[in-house]
Amino acid sequence: MQKVLRAYKFRLYPSEAQKASLAQTFGCARFVYNHFLHARSQAWQEHRTSCSYAKDCKALTELKKAPECSWLNDVSNIALQQSLRHLSQAFQNFFSKRSRYPAFKRKEGHQAFTLMRHGFGLQDGKLRLARFEGLLEVRWSRALPSAPSQVTITKDPAGRYFASFLCEEQVAALAPASRDTGIDLGLLSFITDAQGVPVAPPKFLAKLLHQVRRLSQALARKRKGSANRSKARLRLAALHARIADARSNFLHQLSTHLLRENQAVYAEELSIRGLMRTRLARSIADAAWGELLRQLRYKAQWYGRTFWQAPRNFASSKLCSACGCKNTELTLSQRRWRCVCGAEHERDTNAARNLLAAGRAAMEHRTAGLAGA
Ligand SMILES: [Zn+2]
Repeated sequence: MQKVLRAYKFRLYPSEAQKASLAQTFGCARFVYNHFLHARSQAWQEHRTSCSYAKDCKALTELKKAPECSWLNDVSNIALQQSLRHLSQAFQNFFSKRSRYPAFKRKEGHQAFTLMRHGFGLQDGKLRLARFEGLLEVRWSRALPSAPSQVTITKDPAGRYFASFLCEEQVAALAPASRDTGIDLGLLSFITDAQGVPVAPPKFLAKLLHQVRRLSQALARKRKGSANRSKARLRLAALHARIADARSNFLHQLSTHLLRENQAVYAEELSIRGLMRTRLARSIADAAWGELLRQLRYKAQWYGRTFWQAPRNFASSKLCSACGCKNTELTLSQRRWRCVCGAEHERDTNAARNLLAAGRAAMEHRTAGLAGA
């Protein structure tokens, strides 16, 4: 058993008055995020100085004293400070090459603010927020395992409200599994394992993407500023929300299944920044490998499994998994190839086998290192 932090998300049903209050907090949180993102970018461009969360917090206190920003005092200060924390995290992700440069938050986009333990409470099954009149109706679909340490309130572009509670929970390790595997990430099959078993990209995504294209075209035909245009935008946003939900279910089932069946899973390292620049960006975003790898990483910790990623320069596709020779002439479109040693390879299975071998070697190395220490 070990303690882990887990998010529990539920739908919220605010009244019209509550929606207005939430909009105010969303707006202030977004303003603070954007204001300090701009300040950080400027400080870097002009003076090559970097900011920190602590520096930003001090500057926020000053900002709230300015008469033109006094409206920031109408919402919970915790929410504003959490905005700065998220900004700080976004920069850390950027500097460690896990994500792109932080972007400004848009009014039409996903809205969010976060409150820590002293900023919210549960009362008669309803949610009370700091600096907020009345209680929010929550549709509980399961019980919380412990008292939540923070809550994030979100509104998606489709106009749906959610509360996501962060709770500490005891998770039992899974019973040991007798096999391990490597997984190759691809577009033709979403993943292929070292045993040569492919997992197809979810079919419903292709169908939904077709609808996205149709609704986007419909939206483009509507006159700017018209009621029909905002209706069309909402329909498109609702569809995107459905896709996000379906993809999330698919990825959770897949990551749990992989770790249940295998004692160790080995994969490649993804360079999100590198990939997003290519024309494949759209399909890659949809394929959501980054999210799969993220889930494998934290769930492996939960369940007492091993998850390891090969370094970025590891040539998983080009090595022959039978003899170790490197086929430098292999092109992206070549699905099958024959090595000089005579081995016949299916591209993805071969890559997965190489990842399995590299992962096993890395684990042996690690164990040997521990034994020697
Ligand atoms: Zn070979």
